[in-house]
Amino acid sequence: MLILCTNDDGYLARGLKVLSEAAQPLGEVHVVAPDREQSATSHSLTMHVPIRARSVGERTHSVSGTPTDCVFLAMQELLPRRPDFVLSGVNHGMNMGEDVLYSGTVSAAMEATVFGVPSIALSYAGRDADHLEGYGELLARLLPQLVRPDAFPRETLLNVNLPPIDPRDVKGVQVTRLGRRVFSDSFMKGTDPSGRPYYWIGGGTVEWAAEEGTDFHAVDAGYVSVTPLHLDLTNHALIQGVAGWGLTV
Ligand code: MN
Repeated sequence: MLILCTNDDGYLARGLKVLSEAAQPLGEVHVVAPDREQSATSHSLTMHVPIRARSVGERTHSVSGTPTDCVFLAMQELLPRRPDFVLSGVNHGMNMGEDVLYSGTVSAAMEATVFGVPSIALSYAGRDADHLEGYGELLARLLPQLVRPDAFPRETLLNVNLPPIDPRDVKGVQVTRLGRRVFSDSFMKGTDPSGRPYYWIGGGTVEWAAEEGTDFHAVDAGYVSVTPLHLDLTNHALIQGVAGWGLTV
């Protein structure tokens, strides 16, 4: 089995190393990852400047682009053949609830799904990365249960979040739905040396509706959260309703 590992934190990130090492027993692991931090780049594809790929080790390339660029190039150019599976992460930071819309980690997995290749996004749900390396053994046990190219549901990816605790204290795995998060104070305003205002997005405190059955609830309770995601954003229940508006041109 040929496995592509990628991420959005850059090819040198600790989380990517933990993931690619845990995946080794599953097959031939290749790494194609951005040459620098590309967090929160969502599903962007670089189209207005050229991108370059550089061999930076055995079966490892860095790419001067986004996570989506990495998967796109890996699929069509850099790997000896199309991968059987794509793993994205382990991201340094949570990707739960609405995060999945901004996340480069999740988007890389989505891009694989667009290509028809099964994929999993993995994130460490803490701001510190204290326990990240410790997750190697847990992932080595979990990945073989998830990486099943023949049995994997089509048009679907799995979004995995690891609780920011000692992996030995993890209580188990919960299969969840996406929760809802609330940002507060998530940008700051300042004044540049020329006296003009600038805005800086990020930071703030994160709160979420801790409903049972959600990814947030599971991680908060010390479980690994596994959320199946599909790419069809259609609100099927509303097709009839909006059709009933009698829209004309
Ligand atoms: Mn990231």
